[in-house]
Amino acid sequence: MEATGARPAPLGRAQDYQPIFRLCSNALGEARLAIRRTSVGGERLLLTVDTATLATSLEHERCWTCADTDDESQTDTRFLRAIHTDGRPVLLGSRAQSNAGIAHGSTDGSFITGDLCPSRKPLDRDFLEILVRLGPRTPVALAISGSWLERHGADFRWLQDQARNGTLDITWVNHSYHHPYAPGRTPATNFLLMPSVDIDAEILDTERLLVANGATPSVFFRFPGLVSDPALIEAVRRHHLVALGADGWLAFGRPLRPGTILLVHPNGNEPAGLARFSRMLEEGNLPRPFRPITAAP
Ligand SMILES: [Zn+2]
Repeated sequence: MEATGARPAPLGRAQDYQPIFRLCSNALGEARLAIRRTSVGGERLLLTVDTATLATSLEHERCWTCADTDDESQTDTRFLRAIHTDGRPVLLGSRAQSNAGIAHGSTDGSFITGDLCPSRKPLDRDFLEILVRLGPRTPVALAISGSWLERHGADFRWLQDQARNGTLDITWVNHSYHHPYAPGRTPATNFLLMPSVDIDAEILDTERLLVANGATPSVFFRFPGLVSDPALIEAVRRHHLVALGADGWLAFGRPLRPGTILLVHPNGNEPAGLARFSRMLEEGNLPRPFRPITAAP
């Protein structure tokens, strides 16, 4: 089924999208790291990170005074520590690995993450409605691919409405733009490890499309298939993003530990997983409370 509804704004609405690394302060004495600069509708904007809370925000560049910085100068911040968390990736042979980065939260409760891999099916709104009914501002991290957003303008707007009216607290996780995948291929030459993948474009174009459509990218990146290698990890770190894995596999029926990072697919391709999620939720088998993903590292 083709997605219906209005088309999302094009990438080009956010112009000159560039990675930067600058330490900024404003007239109120607040400090942030700026990791991107762009221009929307003639306004120069910075994508900034609070290094303690990991919250991101888009700020008017004219309100901030910035100077270049480097990783070494920021090494003691929670942000840089999160970026350099290796986790316990599973080696898949050759250089490929699975589930690198933050794969388990450092708190109690659990973290709901949903991957929006490219799909022709509509968003599974029923699943998100379940989260809406849990109470105001239920936190959910949505790992979005650019290709999904391109096809699901109306669904994306609906999600933004939920965020705006305070029913959901959505963190937008970067899931790469094209989310390359070839069925049957081994992980070592699949996903972003396929030849001729431009990892910089995969990272930056997804953020740029989010910004063009009025959303704020977070500091999190989830590898398609959770598959990476040391070169991809290095690229994600160079762009000052935190690799996000998962350890809450609902399929195995095992009890979930506090701090678990749950992974579901609300892109229409995993109805069975979502049904399991609601059953476990009803039975009280998901560790509570649900926490924003920024609390995981
Ligand atoms: Zn995916």
